[in-house]
Amino acid sequence: MSRGIAYRRAKMATIKQQRRHWWQHDMSPQQIGLAAATPKPCSCWMCGHARRHHGRTMQERRQLDSFEIQKDDGP
Ligand SMILES: [Zn+2]
Repeated sequence: MSRGIAYRRAKMATIKQQRRHWWQHDMSPQQIGLAAATPKPCSCWMCGHARRHHGRTMQERRQLDSFEIQKDDGP
């Protein structure tokens, strides 16, 4: 089932309603639109991608460990 344009417009209206005080109390319509499209405009250690600031994820470390063990077990 595909969603129509009416659904996407309603969804965006909901997001804009939720984020009308996102960064400060009185936000202009332009700022609300920006907050709806990009909720985290910066890349600091709290907002940015976790791998960039905290290294590999647990899942990736586990997979690499498994690969190293299997590589040494070869014939
Ligand atoms: Zn940030």
